[in-house]
Amino acid sequence: MHDFTIKEKILSKNDELAGENRVLLRERGVYSINMVSSPGSGKTSVIEKTLEALKGKLEVAVIEGDLQTDLDAQRIKKHGVPVRQITTGKACHLDAHLVGGALDWLFSHPEVRLLIIENVGNMVCPAEYDLGEDAKVLVMSAPEGDDKPLKYPAIFHASDVLLINKTDLIPHTDFSMARARKNALAINPGLKIFETSCVTGEGIDAWVNYLTGEMMTVVP
Ligand code: MG
Repeated sequence: MHDFTIKEKILSKNDELAGENRVLLRERGVYSINMVSSPGSGKTSVIEKTLEALKGKLEVAVIEGDLQTDLDAQRIKKHGVPVRQITTGKACHLDAHLVGGALDWLFSHPEVRLLIIENVGNMVCPAEYDLGEDAKVLVMSAPEGDDKPLKYPAIFHASDVLLINKTDLIPHTDFSMARARKNALAINPGLKIFETSCVTGEGIDAWVNYLTGEMMTVVP
């Protein structure tokens, strides 16, 4: 007989709660994305650019996961969208229970169609925890190196979309876009990849158009 480890039990309970979140979000017609990355890849900046692009077109809410501080939540608040901070303390990832606890708040904004969840920054723990999202969006910045998919395969495998961010910095690094794409697609051939820069604006429109298109197929 298979002996379940404590970790397997935790993950299986998390999957159950994530399933409940997914049902509730779908019932309310909310599409959700879970943004994961290492610290400093530009997740919050990408979210800010996404909010700017969607302003006046689509109602968005943001959940900000962080170990400490509400610095990112304060940045998001300036865009005038509902934002909820979840401080995880020592936990290196959000989980379905924490996100489930924010759904009453979310549903008190019935106009919201898109929920963006910014996970805690690291490429390890968030890979395993389904939050109930429709898509996991991985942000990897060029200065981190084109070998990241090979070093952190689990999160590349678990993600649906990859934003290769900070393309404006590529001339200052030995980053190869061809190698990065090859490494990422070797781990996950289904990854949808966008090259983005929050400084030049490169790729932001393409990413936002893709996001809203995907959203329409799930919650028309
Ligand atoms: Mg951030």
